This record gives sequence, structure tokens and C-alpha cells, in this order.
Amino acid sequence: MFTETTLVINCGSSSLKFSLICPQTGETLLNGLAECLSSNDATLSYTFENNKQSQPLLAPFNHQVAINALVAILKQHHLVDKITAIGHRIVHGGEKYGQPTIITEAVKTEIDKLAQLAPLHNPANLIGIQACEQAFKHLPQVAVFDTAFHQTMPAKAYIYGLPYKLYQEHGIRRYGFHGTSHYFVAKQAASLINKPIDECNFISAHLGNGCSITAIKNGKSVETSLGLTPLEGVMMGTRSGDIDPSIVFHLVDQLGYSAEQVNQMLNKESGLLGVSQLSNDCRALERAMVEDNHPGAKLALDIFCYRIAKTIASFTASLTKLDAIIFTGGIGENSAFVREQVLSQLSLLGMKVDADKNLAARFGQSGKITTTNSRAAWVIPTNEEWVIAEQTQQKLIQE
Ligand code: AMP
Repeated sequence: MFTETTLVINCGSSSLKFSLICPQTGETLLNGLAECLSSNDATLSYTFENNKQSQPLLAPFNHQVAINALVAILKQHHLVDKITAIGHRIVHGGEKYGQPTIITEAVKTEIDKLAQLAPLHNPANLIGIQACEQAFKHLPQVAVFDTAFHQTMPAKAYIYGLPYKLYQEHGIRRYGFHGTSHYFVAKQAASLINKPIDECNFISAHLGNGCSITAIKNGKSVETSLGLTPLEGVMMGTRSGDIDPSIVFHLVDQLGYSAEQVNQMLNKESGLLGVSQLSNDCRALERAMVEDNHPGAKLALDIFCYRIAKTIASFTASLTKLDAIIFTGGIGENSAFVREQVLSQLSLLGMKVDADKNLAARFGQSGKITTTNSRAAWVIPTNEEWVIAEQTQQKLIQE
């Protein structure tokens, strides 16, 4: 076992997630997280053979130090020789990258240019690439883009109702995100219903801290709710999702907000947190609603579920058939309450929840949660790391 593994790297602005995965089976040999990388709280924790270990990282506090610590851990467990490639999760691939791509100097330059569209993510992704190039000079590195799966959307889904030259000259359009997750759960669902993926029609709901809904026609993304940035669409943990754009002018012109304050408010202080005035964590809100009858928690969850249902219903305009609705992400995989609330507002689509199956589908279990006379809904745990490992290997085989 594990003769060949891919090291998957997902670099955030102050964190670095890593997994060593067998691309064929998805089995994880070692995984972990380095976090608080810009402060003296920087730590690296990892799990190997069911043992979780944690260690502080030493100055200078940065991604290179985290990668160096990871290399030492890989050596300690005699794993370095098993790594055949490195796959990087890259958030924004713009229109240029609809497929995984071997990382070259030119690709790095493009990822850097695309930082205009993802200023919080692409620069961090690049730091991860550079740190890995230093540490693993002999290994090929592949970029797998979060936007790539949505590159099949038709123009009517990705062009905004704005002057067209903003798209032509500045690339302002819907790109969508969570692409690897939507792709993974669609592929899993196709295998569960025993149909070739290119004959499958799904609406997938990735519900975590960030949330997105995607319509998948004959296995391809044809519509998605996140836009130029991950702020559009349904309401999320701390992000507002869709609002009337004029609210921004009202806040600036009438209420004296700066552009930066509006940006902060829409991304960090809105959504479940902003409405409930309690928490962005779905579990905490469900508890507060049930145990304390907390009105803010109830309203936030009501809005959250209604907007998801409304978006799913509207996405049927992109499809001519619908095999199933798929739930994934931390909330989609674990919250029976959210799934039930969403599906109960989709009875016109023929959705009928099976209460027992819905309650049973959690903690990493896949399962169908609807009755036998209902259109199907499935819970499918996502595994973006496996997709990145698999696509990295496939790309290298093609070359
Ligand atoms: P993710 O971004 O996919 O890791 O999802 C994180 C979110 O999943 C958290 O903010 C929680 O709100 C939510 N979550 C995790 N477990 C549960 C649960 N058992 N019930 C409800 N929500 C959950």
C-alpha cells in the first residue's frame, strides 16, 4: 500500500493545510494544519496512524518554516520517498485555467496576476508553491483551481448585467468557487445512483463557513451562486450573500461608512453572525434556538435555509432534469435541521424528507435522506484533497 502518494497543500494567508493522499483510493496517510503562521502562536498539528501530535513553530513565523517542519515530520516517518507529486489548491484560476496545470514560472506569473481577483487567497497560494519549490526541488507541482469546474457555465450564467466592457477589459464576471467540492460530490453521487456522470443532473449545496449552490447538467457546472468573489449568493456564516447593491451607497453616503468598513461588514460581520448577533456557528445557533428560544438564532437560521431553498429552486431554470439535490460541507453534512428546513420548502420539486434517514446522515456518512416516493436528496461528505491528489496524478500521466 501507499507506493505513490500526492502531497496536497492548501495555503491560506496565515495557515497551511496538508495531506498525504493515495490518489487512487483517497486514503490519507498523514494530514495536518499549520496555523497562526504570522504570530508567535504559530503551531503545527498533524495526524499519522491515528496519533495526533502538535508542535510550536519557531521564528521567523511564516509558511516556509511550516513547510520545513513538515519536511522534518515526513522524514521522521520515512514518508519523503513515497511522495511523487505536489498538488496545490489555488483559489482563482480566472478564465485561463479550466483544468489542472503543471506549475511553471509562467503559471506562477498568471496566478500572481489573478491576485487582483482574489487578493486574500492567490498571494497565499503562491507563497505555498514557492515554499514547496524550495523544499521539494525534485518533485513536479500541479495547480488545481477552485474556479476551474465552473468554467463550463454558459455566458448567460456568468455575465453580469453591467456594461460589457467591464467583462472584456477587466474580467468582471461570475467565476464561482468550491469547484473541486461540487465536482467531487457530483462524481460520488453519480456512482451512488449508478449512472455515468455525463448523464447526471444535480443541484449541489456546499454549506460550510462559505456556502455555494451549483447546478450540474450532464456532469458539468452550468450555474453557481458565488460570483466574482465569494460574497455573492446565499447567506453564509459571516458573509451577507446577495443584497441590494444600493445598500452600499446608502451606508457610505448617508451613514458615513468607509469602503473598507463596508467590505469588513459584508464579509466578516454579516450572515448568520450578523443577523443572530450571537454566532456564525450553525451548531451554536441550533442550540440557542432549541434551548433558549433565542429569537436572533431562529431568524438567522430561517433566512439561511429559505435563501438556500430559493436558490436551489431558481437553479432548476438551468436544468431539464434533476436526479438529486446533494448536501455537503460542514453544515450540509451534519445539520439534519438545515437539510430538513431546506427540503421542506422545496415540496413543489417533489422533495419529501425521510426524518430517520436525515437524522442518521452525519459524521462523514453518505446517505439518501428522502422517502421512496420523493425526488432524491443525498448527503455526501466532500473530499477536496482527494480530488486535488487525483487530478494532480492524472495531469502528470497525461504529460
Ligand atoms: P466547513 O467550512 O465546511 O468546515 O464547515 C464549518 C461549519 O460547519 C461550522 O461553522 C459549523 O457551523 C458547521 N457544523 C459542523 N458540525 C455541525 C453540526 N453537527 N451541526 C450543525 N452545523 C455543524
